[in-house]
Amino acid sequence: MTRLKIVAGNWKMHKTLEESQSLITEIRGIVRDEIRSNTKVIVCPPYIALAAATRLLEGTGIGLGAQNCHFEEQGAFTGEISAGMIKSTGAEYVIIGHSERRQYFGETNETTALKSKTAIRHGLHVIFCVGETLSQREDKSYFRVVEAQLQEGLFHLDRKEFSHIVIAYEPVWAIGTGLTASPEQAQEMHAYIRKVVGMHYTDEIANNTSILYGGSVKPDNAQTLFSQGDIDGGLIGGAALKARDFVDIVKGMH
Ligand code: PEP
Repeated sequence: MTRLKIVAGNWKMHKTLEESQSLITEIRGIVRDEIRSNTKVIVCPPYIALAAATRLLEGTGIGLGAQNCHFEEQGAFTGEISAGMIKSTGAEYVIIGHSERRQYFGETNETTALKSKTAIRHGLHVIFCVGETLSQREDKSYFRVVEAQLQEGLFHLDRKEFSHIVIAYEPVWAIGTGLTASPEQAQEMHAYIRKVVGMHYTDEIANNTSILYGGSVKPDNAQTLFSQGDIDGGLIGGAALKARDFVDIVKGMH
């Protein structure tokens, strides 16, 4: 099994340019010994900080990602940013399909499919988010919802393209709420996602795909979550904004 363990920080709409530079400098200073050959640490600051972050992260082994991109190459899309623009900053990753984009900005399985294809064409790795809402958890449709997000948003990719995908399972009811899926609930869904990926591609591809958990991960619950067999790290929101908390979560991978 060669899949990477990954902890990625999604800073959302937080931090000015200066604040972003300070936080990256702080993280860079304390995370160094925690980066091992089979682990990856990624930060996803706002777009305005990407180019400066590339310079600050040079030689550190820390990856850099954006939080969204448009699916078109270019054009009259005021306020949007293309995959090529992200790539030109030096970033290597992009988050696609985050539940906040789905909830507030009309992201659909169809647009996530288009975005994934475009991002990969530009040489970016995609952190592709899936997850059910509270009502979908309660009415027990959550496996079906997540499977549809994968089928419609990702499975148009061929095997080579899919090797650029990291999946993040983020139950919407656990994001920013302080509620965390139990390790058993998360493991159950991660194993299901791996099975669905295996059925569509191959078991080998499924076993090589990193599947991250996101939803109120904190230093005190990270290790238990990450020790589950199919949980390969985390996508971290709130706790990624404090260097010490973020690095303590990174330590949970070992
Ligand atoms: C996220 O935004 O991807 C997330 C998981 O947020 P939080 O850790 O704050 O729940």
